[in-house]
Amino acid sequence: MIRTFKCPSCGGDLVYDPGSTQMKCIRCSRTTPFGEVDYEKDLLEAKPSEASDNDGNGKEEYHCANCGAVLDTDDYTASTVCRYCGSPMLLESRFSGDVKPSRILPFGFDKKKAQDNFKNWTGTGFLTPASFKTQATMDKVTGVYVPYWLYNYTADVNIKAIGTRTRIERTQTEEIIHTDHFDINRLTQTEYTNVPENAHPDLPSDKLSVLEPYDFENLTAFVEPYIAGFFAEKFGKTKEELEPGVRKTVEADAVQTALSQIIEYETVNPMGSRVDMVKASSEYVMLPLWALNFKYGGKNYPLFMNGRTGKIEGELPVSRGKVLLVGLIAFIIVFLLTYLFGRVI
Ligand SMILES: [Zn+2]
Ligand SMILES: [Zn+2]
Repeated sequence: MIRTFKCPSCGGDLVYDPGSTQMKCIRCSRTTPFGEVDYEKDLLEAKPSEASDNDGNGKEEYHCANCGAVLDTDDYTASTVCRYCGSPMLLESRFSGDVKPSRILPFGFDKKKAQDNFKNWTGTGFLTPASFKTQATMDKVTGVYVPYWLYNYTADVNIKAIGTRTRIERTQTEEIIHTDHFDINRLTQTEYTNVPENAHPDLPSDKLSVLEPYDFENLTAFVEPYIAGFFAEKFGKTKEELEPGVRKTVEADAVQTALSQIIEYETVNPMGSRVDMVKASSEYVMLPLWALNFKYGGKNYPLFMNGRTGKIEGELPVSRGKVLLVGLIAFIIVFLLTYLFGRVI
């Protein structure tokens, strides 16, 4: 099934209006609160058809319920926008049943604000290629909901260590420094909530983790209107697949936290530690990301922005033309200075 949401006034497509709990018509701009959206009405029959890719492998193909064009989808696409008519299309089977996210962090600001953020990020942008700030580039800014697993742990840490303290004994003639050794056997408990791990099939975790932290206190129950008009993918990595890596990081952090709480000694030498996860749970959520793939000199420069805080990760190329120009100007200045003052000095 494909889901769309239609404007009660004009029948145009409704998309999520970032920073709110309402939808906005892309034709007449009228806003409709989630509560007034008719969920059952706009569910369209859309069985995927079989198509062959270049290698002759079968793949599922969905058609736009509005214009009939083939939608850009892969095995994970949960929400997309028809590239021909601009209609948002939600693929129901990719966010329902056992692949339904429990909660979502909705986009906090719209595409216009995201574009301004990207432009401001370059500062004066003196060496940034001029093509970066053009409308053609900015039109490519895309809102994507990224699938994440959030893990919760309660970690019991048992630390064994040797602590030392020194004391000084003064006699009339000398000072004796005594070092006392203590066996430390310490049990601490640390709570970890909402430790995020990117479950997107393709997006690079190392880049996305730079966008953290997210304001998880604002996670809200997942409902479909939030992803209308945005791209969304269901998880490509299961919670079981990603859990061992997360657990390892959390365990290491729990040991460090426990050690940092032993403060009554001058030195602490860890002799061993044991971590027991007395509670562990996880949750499937979607987090908002503005993405821009900037192409320059035949290379891709992927840029990512936290859809809540506006924090950006990525690198921009420097304009070769501008670098040459700066070099030329510097040369002329040095040349003139040498010419004018060189004989005097
Ligand atoms: Zn309308
Ligand atoms: Zn279409």
